[in-house]
Amino acid sequence: METVGTASTVWTRETATGAKRDLWSAMKRGFRCRCPRCGEGKMFRAFLKTADNCSVCGLDFTPHRADDLPAYLVIVIVGHIVVPIVLSIETNFSPAVWLQLSIYLPLTFGLSLALLQPVKGAVVGLQWALRMHGFDENAPDGIPPV
Ligand SMILES: [Zn+2]
Repeated sequence: METVGTASTVWTRETATGAKRDLWSAMKRGFRCRCPRCGEGKMFRAFLKTADNCSVCGLDFTPHRADDLPAYLVIVIVGHIVVPIVLSIETNFSPAVWLQLSIYLPLTFGLSLALLQPVKGAVVGLQWALRMHGFDENAPDGIPPV
């Protein structure tokens, strides 16, 4: 096991230097698919592919590690929207199954596609604001903040 630092220089998020980053504004900017730092540059160069850096302020987007979290969050959000609608309509009106499926399936698909990019942007904004995964320019080389 490799020893990192001494007892007096343990690296944590609290010991990180630099200006405090506002979590909610970074997530809101990310949700709008904009750079979490300046709020102007576009975060994505394709549907779910982030740009290498911000075209306005130059923030490097490559350290993000959104992975599957945006997809999981979209499933939770869309499920909490669609399932109550389905249950309410089935309980109160009980329309034909073909009619329900012709509404719910496109609704689920459309909501999922519409939310995936903004949610990924918000996740990247969260990681930037919390200086996760290499978004901390003051982190020691090769040692990401805990
Ligand atoms: Zn920017």
